[in-house]
Amino acid sequence: MTETDTPILNARHLLGIEALSVGEITGLLDLAEEYVKLGRAPQKKLALLKGRTVINLFFEPSTRTQSSFELAGKRLGADTMNMSVRTSSVSKGETLVDTATTLNAMRPDILIVRHQDSGAAELLSRKLDCSVVNAGDGCHEHPTQALLDALTIRRRLGRLDGLTVAICGDIAHSRVARSNIHLLTKMGATVRLIAPKTLLPADAASFGCEIFTDMNKGVADVDIVMMLRLQMERMAGAFVPSAREYFRFWGLDRKKLALAKPHAFVMHPGPMNRGVEIDSAVADDIEVSLIQEQVEMGVAIRMAVLDALSRGLSGGSA
Ligand code: ASP
Repeated sequence: MTETDTPILNARHLLGIEALSVGEITGLLDLAEEYVKLGRAPQKKLALLKGRTVINLFFEPSTRTQSSFELAGKRLGADTMNMSVRTSSVSKGETLVDTATTLNAMRPDILIVRHQDSGAAELLSRKLDCSVVNAGDGCHEHPTQALLDALTIRRRLGRLDGLTVAICGDIAHSRVARSNIHLLTKMGATVRLIAPKTLLPADAASFGCEIFTDMNKGVADVDIVMMLRLQMERMAGAFVPSAREYFRFWGLDRKKLALAKPHAFVMHPGPMNRGVEIDSAVADDIEVSLIQEQVEMGVAIRMAVLDALSRGLSGGSA
């Protein structure tokens, strides 16, 4: 987007937020602002990644992340390809590394990968020649989600520093929570984790967050309430009594939201389970809900990430 090839990211890959500096995070957020403007303009396309190949390799279902990476690549002029794992040889037993090595032989420039195993993106980054972006690995990290959340918050509240953000729900199984904890604490926000004991990670005390099991206490006076889905696919056994009980104690409704700051906003990475972790009356209220804005910011952030990574590709920016 800019005239220069100034590096924003120090590494060739984006595997998580944990390894990023405040400067790298700020650089990506600032660059994404330019892409928000572009996304709102009638002519949305650039030739920055012309000639580059971006492959989406998703081993888990995705609506927002996969489509926004595809759109981001297309808006930057790249050839983007979606590799559908169900129709690929993975369903015939090919391993992650075999599949990725096959794709590598097609000489992509950037591979976007989502996989059910923590560490999958990092493993591929060591085996492949291209840049790798982690689009969610098991319970570990989902860096572009945290970046788009940060962009959404920064645009609404003007800053991240000094804010109090409550992350509520299934923290134990959530890569979104982990990436957000890293990002928000690095940027000077206070993070509260609110969950039943069964859904708090065993090492939660080491995260540098305030921990609550009582949602009414946890949301008191916060600036942002970020709700998370129960990650049933990662649970072996019952972690909550029933969806109804869960909603009663940890679901966000108007009554609980009223305990937060008067102008507090509600966020959710999607997909939402209405009536389980969030009430429709809150999710659909455009005065308080930033959920649709998060989706818009997702495209801008993913364009910024592809742009930033392209600066480190051999031959520089296309
Ligand atoms: N879409 C997010 C993720 O992939 C959140 C979720 O699935 O609950 O982690």
